Amino acid sequence: MHEHYGKPLAMPHDTALQLLLDDGRSVPYRIRVSPRSRRVRLTLTPRDGLVMVTPPGVQRDWLIKLANDWRGWVGKQMDQLGIREPDELSVPDVTLPAQIALPALGETWHLLQRFAPNTSARVRQGANATLVLSGDCLDIAASRRALERWLMRRAKDALPLLLAEVSRQTGLVYRQVSIRAQRTRWGSCSSHGDICLNYQILFLTPQLARHVLLHELCHTVRLDHSPRFWRTVARFEPELDARRAEMRRSWSSVPAWLQAAR
Ligand SMILES: [Zn+2]
Repeated sequence: MHEHYGKPLAMPHDTALQLLLDDGRSVPYRIRVSPRSRRVRLTLTPRDGLVMVTPPGVQRDWLIKLANDWRGWVGKQMDQLGIREPDELSVPDVTLPAQIALPALGETWHLLQRFAPNTSARVRQGANATLVLSGDCLDIAASRRALERWLMRRAKDALPLLLAEVSRQTGLVYRQVSIRAQRTRWGSCSSHGDICLNYQILFLTPQLARHVLLHELCHTVRLDHSPRFWRTVARFEPELDARRAEMRRSWSSVPAWLQAAR
């Protein structure tokens, strides 16, 4: 077994694949293994570029052949989207990060990779704010999922404490809190006072993270977004306008490598 510790391995991009179209254009694409997917499919969007999504266990050579068989479709799709040159397609950064900053907690974790083939990727906390990613870290998709699971554990440890703190400061009481991987919202609150928080709050600034928690706590008083609700928020948030403006840009705080994991 080859052990590697202390220095990050150079990670290969899974963006290196190129699809040659009949008109000579060469389109970059990447293969994403998704345990939830049942069949191989190809998607092309200006934002994510050309992505082949496949269930686990499909041979890479066969995937490359399949992409080649579908090159006519890719050319037509690019014409339909008005994309002339392949470099107009943005291909997100899909490599693993060297460090993970969690501004909400004031923490920065450094990622160390311990390569061990044929073992699935897992993440544990080491000394001095290091995260140790061990197993087959060349499987970038699986490594990203392992990092996402760690982020979820970190959020489950830290966010309930932050919520309790804001609750104590404001006197707004809730019943229970749960942490989830929500795709489209930062949090929610039920009519019973059960608060659900998105683990990605970890990537927000401390002020913005507090603002999200405060927002959900204020829903224990008012469930809607009426002027009365915002007056309640304003009582505890002197810079409400600034926070609301920041919230509109808040999703860009989530790092690209994690967004690519979706
Ligand atoms: Zn709300």
